[in-house]
Amino acid sequence: MPPVLFKVDLTKPMSEQEVVGHNRWHPDIPAIASVNPGDVFRIECKDWTDGQIKDNDDPSDIRDVDLTVVHVLSGPIHVNGAEPGDILVVDLLDIGALQGDEWGFTGIFARENGGGFLTEHYPNAAKAIWDLQGIYTSSRHIPGVRFAGITHPGLIGCAPSHDLLATWNSRESALVATNPDRVPPLAALPNPLNAVLGSLKGGEFDRVAAEAARTVPPREHGGNCDIKNLSRGSRIYFPVYVDGAKLSMGDIHFSQGDGEVSFCGAIEMSGYIDLHVDIIKGGMEKYGMINPIFKPGPVEPRYSEYLVFEGISVDEFTGEQYYLDAHVAYRRACLNAIEYLKKFGFTGEQAYLLLSCAPIEGRVSGIVDIPNACCTLALPTEIFDKSILPT
Ligand code: ZN
Repeated sequence: MPPVLFKVDLTKPMSEQEVVGHNRWHPDIPAIASVNPGDVFRIECKDWTDGQIKDNDDPSDIRDVDLTVVHVLSGPIHVNGAEPGDILVVDLLDIGALQGDEWGFTGIFARENGGGFLTEHYPNAAKAIWDLQGIYTSSRHIPGVRFAGITHPGLIGCAPSHDLLATWNSRESALVATNPDRVPPLAALPNPLNAVLGSLKGGEFDRVAAEAARTVPPREHGGNCDIKNLSRGSRIYFPVYVDGAKLSMGDIHFSQGDGEVSFCGAIEMSGYIDLHVDIIKGGMEKYGMINPIFKPGPVEPRYSEYLVFEGISVDEFTGEQYYLDAHVAYRRACLNAIEYLKKFGFTGEQAYLLLSCAPIEGRVSGIVDIPNACCTLALPTEIFDKSILPT
């Protein structure tokens, strides 16, 4: 086992850990450790809600989740020698559950508190608890399915520069200003409430808390990309925006479908990540890099049989024609899959949770044939304990 650079005590909130992590992005959050290029080390992570969701049958914790707390991250790790313009090479050598905490959760957030991709159809909170047995998982809340995990960090990235942070805040504020009263909001703007900023204290804490970015969206530095294929064995190339890169991570997912549609939609868990880091000097310019690129790992569940649902860019409520809108088309593909699964004994909520967390392949299949985008959702048929093919 490599040296553990960040340990978590699951009985305590992130703000009371021996080494405190963070739940906002800001270049001035101090690093908790330094490593050299070539080092191998282990980072432990709490689940993204900081332990708010419990292993029981009551979804009220999902309904009442305090989203000012998310995502709790472990780090930042300072990589010696990394400078703005470099690429930080990060190998995800292994990812797993913490001993004694081998379970996870998937939730549908209430429309008034977070919402999700299909919130107009499923506005109420729901929860599924998953038992993890090695590489496999099953849930007492969604009987009839069992599958292997494609375990990955939902969130991993380096700190933004002051300039990049200012860019994020200005463009996201402008978006929110177009419809400031929307529920759920168009973006999560800086919010000092429940900010956790490592070892920062006093006036510095207040200054950083007021301008630090929320961790919700993916951005140029990576961050909350929620890419299921960023799994064990992947090599990620991150653009470096600050001295030392300041790498942080968290939000470990045992499994997730493309799109993570229900928002709390993966099988969310605490766990550990073993990493190896290296640097490519001047790599951003050399490779024209703005966002991360990555090479998926060689270890993934092998499902080969799928039932594929198509969706087109026509609104399901109004019948309005949208122009090549992949968002609308993927929503229709999801809704088609849910309606289908309801014919096999699942509730709509169970099907929505399942599409969110099982190894679903979502694709932009056609984005050119005016006026309809065509998105597809491929459901692996082998995860069900009975045939779900039409007969
Ligand atoms: Zn997550």
